[in-house]
Amino acid sequence: MERKILHLDLDAFFCSVEELLDPSLRDKPFAVGGNPQGRGVVSSCSYSARRCGVHSAMPMARALALCPDLIVIHHRHGLYSEYSYKVMDILRSYSPLFQQVSIDEAFLDVSDLPQHAEEIAREIQARVDREVQLPCSLGVATNKLVAKIANDFGKSQAKSGQAPRQITVIPPGEEAAFLAPLDIQALWGIGPKTSQKLREQGIHTIGQLAALPIAELEAYFGNNAQEMHARALGIDSSPVRPEREVKSVSNEVTFTRDTTDSELLRRTMRELADKVGFRLRKAGLAGSAVQIKLRYSNFETFTRQTALAQPTDLDDVIYAVAEKLLEENLAPSRPVRLIGVGVNRLSPPYRQLSLWDDDLSQKEKLTDALDQLKEKYGQDVIKRASMMKNPKESDSIPNKS
Ligand SMILES: [Mg+2]
Repeated sequence: MERKILHLDLDAFFCSVEELLDPSLRDKPFAVGGNPQGRGVVSSCSYSARRCGVHSAMPMARALALCPDLIVIHHRHGLYSEYSYKVMDILRSYSPLFQQVSIDEAFLDVSDLPQHAEEIAREIQARVDREVQLPCSLGVATNKLVAKIANDFGKSQAKSGQAPRQITVIPPGEEAAFLAPLDIQALWGIGPKTSQKLREQGIHTIGQLAALPIAELEAYFGNNAQEMHARALGIDSSPVRPEREVKSVSNEVTFTRDTTDSELLRRTMRELADKVGFRLRKAGLAGSAVQIKLRYSNFETFTRQTALAQPTDLDDVIYAVAEKLLEENLAPSRPVRLIGVGVNRLSPPYRQLSLWDDDLSQKEKLTDALDQLKEKYGQDVIKRASMMKNPKESDSIPNKS
């Protein structure tokens, strides 16, 4: 059966939210992102800023050089998440075949609905505008690949200076013809290195790529040659994967003997935070609240939670918040029976954004390397230095629950 797939992308999402809260920003050149004095980067920029050549992922200092009137707004991720939830709730109301791919992008499979896909796209765009007051664009096609590329293409064609609010429809059967004149880098699976190699051979468009024999494609894509050939023709059978219904990820430990040893509690919390972080990363999720659980010897149980400015899947961030909560809430002389750490309010991770932040990016690289080791040798292969030193082993040994 022919599928009807929509791709939704909010237009200059962070900027649109800021403008909604402060209408005086309308039509002004402004950018949301990091500090220009540090090494902050543009996360999102207004369409007026784009006219001076500012674009996302550009260093903020460079953006200011290009556009001296640029208003710089520090990002507020918790705020953007709230708006993202509202938009995604609208999409979810159409079909359970919904897949959020980032804070402001999602696929929706509407094959089972009787209306034309384009009609549904228009309705969704109008609802997002009316109910959340944010501009968005949609791509409509028979598969995810073409719907996403159509949307990107449509947005790039919009006249600059304002939100594109595009709807780009690629009718069934026209996938290959639509892709043919586009640059090879629009295709999934072609990074800068491969595209450079292809260009050196005079291959610049997706149409040229589609015309290459499989044997020749193997030189560039190895085992993926067949797949890339299909993609170049606009063929993609990947399903819209319904969301996992994970609401939170947590781990807890019951001590074999109740303890008042704050060092043991802290060390155990560190291990729990690492486990939670590992599980989040494996699931491709990040959460914007950290929770701790404390059960005293008389079974009295407390949970305490802190909201984060930015969703995270990083052990260090989870631990830092959990430790602070522990410090603030632990009654020093009362023996503890159980502690737990959890992360909730889950959404897809902000990898893309945090990659631009040098400090975080370093941590993420290390985290990725550690995760690979854990995958290979099991959870317990890696102990942090902080766990190794201080081997003052208490008589209470955590009991995994
Ligand atoms: Mg967007």
